[in-house]
Amino acid sequence: MSEVLVYGAGMSGLVAAYNLAKDGYEVTVRERERSWGGSRTFNPSTHTTPLDLAATSEYIGVDISPAFVPARSINLYIGEFKLPVPTPGGYHVERSDRPTSLDALLYAKCVEAGVRFEFGEELRKEDLDSLPPGTVIACGLNEEAYRHLEVPCMVWHAWQSRGPTDRDGDAWIWMDECISEYGYCSMLNGIYFNLLPDYGQEVSRQSLERYREFIERREGFSCEEWEYVRGVVPTASPDNPQLFRDKFIMCGTISGAFDPLLGFGISGALVSGKVAATAVSDRERALAEFERFTRNFARVFAFKQEVWRPVTSEVKALEKVLAALGAKRAFSLMMEGIKRSIGKTAIPGFSPLSCN
Ligand SMILES: Cc1cc2nc3c(=O)[nH]c(=O)nc-3n(C[C@H](O)[C@H](O)[C@H](O)COP(=O)(O)OP(=O)(O)OC[C@H]3O[C@@H](n4cnc5c(N)ncnc54)[C@H](O)[C@@H]3O)c2cc1C
Repeated sequence: MSEVLVYGAGMSGLVAAYNLAKDGYEVTVRERERSWGGSRTFNPSTHTTPLDLAATSEYIGVDISPAFVPARSINLYIGEFKLPVPTPGGYHVERSDRPTSLDALLYAKCVEAGVRFEFGEELRKEDLDSLPPGTVIACGLNEEAYRHLEVPCMVWHAWQSRGPTDRDGDAWIWMDECISEYGYCSMLNGIYFNLLPDYGQEVSRQSLERYREFIERREGFSCEEWEYVRGVVPTASPDNPQLFRDKFIMCGTISGAFDPLLGFGISGALVSGKVAATAVSDRERALAEFERFTRNFARVFAFKQEVWRPVTSEVKALEKVLAALGAKRAFSLMMEGIKRSIGKTAIPGFSPLSCN
């Protein structure tokens, strides 16, 4: 029986490992944390994503629906303007080592399929030469693996907070001139996860205080404990996204399967886990699939730089326009604008399986 090594027991690594084991490979997953549940820098957390749940489950060969809960409400704040986002197709999911998480579901499937796990094992630069060709790299958003493999990336910084809540199903997004990305919070299974990130620059304490004041006033929600974290994501460059890097198969966010507009990473990670598994036995088919899922990314990234960022940075002007239009019309115009600019396949995170 052929052996395959996977580095990273996050969502993409687990999907890859499960599919490889089902295909008859002897699979070992090496994970730097002491147990499953993903990176302890970022998890436990709750994430929110648009997702075609049925199509994604079918594609990756795992019914992931028990771990995804439909979003109850998502409030998009542009400055003071509140735009309730229609929630169909929007889901929350928990990332942690608790039984309610997506990690628990995928880990159980892997164990059932006979995947071996080695915890506390890190991918190190000095090991790269001795690793077998076809080793799958699924190390998520942690910086070290990008450096070892020289993956083009940009650093992001964030304040994050988490804790118990009784507001399961709620979420909000906050755009403000003090930050070029957006703050967001999602709540599921009795926990909340609140993140205020920015790319390429530090997030000041003043920005955090402004966000805290806002969510307390508008959402009646206060978070006392915040920690400062940093990570990386791939950048759009001719060298990214990339399924193969030297002798390695790239998998999940580190492959570049990551929505370049709003940072949705879940659908890309799940789908690319399956693609990475395919790549072990059929490189050409895997490459064609990978290109199908990521071929709009450069265009989306350009849209973000040239249109999205300049427009959304004018928060005060936007507030006025949106107030004049009203929430419903504002939302449909926004979606129409994105579709027209990016193409009918829209944002990769929104329609991972329709990128034809
Ligand atoms: C704080 C945060 C919030 C997010 N929120 C959302 C959201 O709301 N919606 C959304 O769609 N996406 C979100 N994302 C993005 C999404 O979580 C990622 O794109 C997705 O988890 C990527 O899956 P992955 O398998 O590539 O990595 P992960 O699921 O992160 O797994 C990577 C695994 O590799 C391990 N690892 C790392 N380095 C090494 C190493 N050197 N050696 C061995 N193991 C290693 C880690 O410990 C981890 O277990 C968020 C990401 C972060 C960090």
